[in-house]
Amino acid sequence: MEKDCIFCKIVNGEIPTDFLYENDSLVVFKDINPQAPVHLLIVPKKHIRSINDLTEEDRKIVSEMIITGRDMAEKESVSKSGYKLIFHVEKGGGQLVFHLHMHLIG
Ligand code: AMP
Ligand code: ZN
Repeated sequence: MEKDCIFCKIVNGEIPTDFLYENDSLVVFKDINPQAPVHLLIVPKKHIRSINDLTEEDRKIVSEMIITGRDMAEKESVSKSGYKLIFHVEKGGGQLVFHLHMHLIG
């Protein structure tokens, strides 16, 4: 839990948010400003600033995020039509929220 981190507050319930999926290590919720009919965020519960800050112990969570993105695409019926899984990395990469997340856009 990082002070003043909006996604930590969503993860711990301080900012009430509907989760489309939750397990021990991650949550999935709708992006507040959708860029397509399906726009979800896959967010690890652990506070990690960005892809740049991943450590050896985070290998499992990253693979879990991608597999969960695939499964949510299936649930949201965009598997066949297609979708994007996107990580923005730091300011120049378009990252606005500095708590690791993956966009599912379909
Ligand atoms: P990024 O540019 O990858 O850091 O994207 C952050 C994303 O978080 C943006 O697409 C925002 O619309 C989204 N976002 C910010 N605050 C919230 C929130 N409270 N609930 C859902 N999505 C949010
Ligand atoms: Zn955080």
